[in-house]
Amino acid sequence: LQEELYKAEKFHMIGELAASISHEIRNPLTTTQGFLQMMAKPGISSASIERYRLHAIEGVEQANAIITDYLNYAKPTIEEARPIHVIEEIKGLLPWITPLSVMSSIEIRIEHQQERALYILGEPKKFQQCLLNLMKNAIEAMPTGGLLSISTRVENRQVCIQISDTGVGMSKLQLRRIGLPFFTTKEKGTGLGLMVVVSLVKVMDGEILFTSKLGRGTVCEIKYGLYG
Ligand code: ADP
Ligand code: MG
Repeated sequence: LQEELYKAEKFHMIGELAASISHEIRNPLTTTQGFLQMMAKPGISSASIERYRLHAIEGVEQANAIITDYLNYAKPTIEEARPIHVIEEIKGLLPWITPLSVMSSIEIRIEHQQERALYILGEPKKFQQCLLNLMKNAIEAMPTGGLLSISTRVENRQVCIQISDTGVGMSKLQLRRIGLPFFTTKEKGTGLGLMVVVSLVKVMDGEILFTSKLGRGTVCEIKYGLYG
């Protein structure tokens, strides 16, 4: 019964969030529509057309960002938990992350403190979404370059994954607010990334911890039970 109640509560929450997220997506789409219509005005200069075009693209990008951060979270789970090869999953994300890091001259360093393969139990898609949202934040925290390190280790039969950056860092107040829906300090942020991360970590019975220093950088550690 408890499980049922928990699910009902969760679906209620997802429903509410879906409503506010639809709203958040509709805003940039409406803006985009407006700019596209303005492009058809008679006698419009080519400079204005170019300006409207860029605004229109921005709107689509914003809508896309919201969907990207939220996607796997909203998907109802039908898949069953299965063993996830942690290091393979991290490697698999590099093709997504590398282009972003190259743009802001960020070095990526990966370090595994053990030779053997590490497995945790869960849904690979959700695990990927977690890591992706965390790595994206790390990269976005270093607009003028820096170091993104991802490391794994085993401690008390738990797999610990650390994602650290040498970026802008966070204040105490900021640290307290991360993970709340729509909390963002970025001009083009969604404020959904960490909310999704926290929830996905919970679903996989994991733990998450942030340490950060303004102007120095941030370390995020997630821990899951070691499988096998
Ligand atoms: P978004 O990235 O769209 O802003 P998130 O939920 O992913 O939304 O992050 C919320 C906020 O937490 C960010 O706007 C930023 O202020 C802060 N934050 C998250 N990760 C980091 C990080 N690695 N370094 C500095 N600030 C961070
Ligand atoms: Mg984010």
